[in-house]
Amino acid sequence: QSVSMLYEAATHDEKTGLYNNKFFETVLEMEMEKAKRHQQKLSLLITDIDFFKRINDTYGHMKADELLACLAKVLMKEARKSDVVARFGGEEFVILLPETDINKAKKFAERLRQATKKDKMLKEHELTFSGGLTEYKKGDTKLKFKERADKGLYKAKDTGRDKIIAVK
Ligand code: GH3
Ligand code: MG
Ligand code: MG
Repeated sequence: QSVSMLYEAATHDEKTGLYNNKFFETVLEMEMEKAKRHQQKLSLLITDIDFFKRINDTYGHMKADELLACLAKVLMKEARKSDVVARFGGEEFVILLPETDINKAKKFAERLRQATKKDKMLKEHELTFSGGLTEYKKGDTKLKFKERADKGLYKAKDTGRDKIIAVK
């Protein structure tokens, strides 16, 4: 019991119940290795809530925290068991999609966006997110892989938000 509680505390983010960044980095390395060795597809999605500062200012931090946890729940519900959903930073999430090519990942990301729009509480507060998406390429370092997804995210923010941009 106490060992599993320690494990939970060391690998998860308290606020959202998702995996934490440290755990994510470890899994990312392992999955990239697997993708390289077995020539498997691997996709990465980085998301960032739109205008979360405004949401904080409008509804208060407590409510904003609740919305953050609510979005985390939606992401977890939509993801497959083999997908790794983690809290990357403040209001940013990462989702690693093993054995998933960029086209399938795009469909998944769209489904996430739609599920977010359908959730009662998220809809009431007009919460949306932007995302960047990419597929693992041979020779990628963790940094390169993440930077490509991040590039997509910046582009999504720059071109109006509430969208996902894939970078090849
Ligand atoms: P953008 O669409 O450009 O992402 O706008 P934004 O306001 O979301 O972006 P910015 O990075 O300027 O601000 C992010 C804000 O998210 C800052 C902080 O107030 C809020 N935030 C980050 N983490 C948490 C958290 O754990 N709880 C709450 N309530 N707010 C958080
Ligand atoms: Mg942010
Ligand atoms: Mg944001």
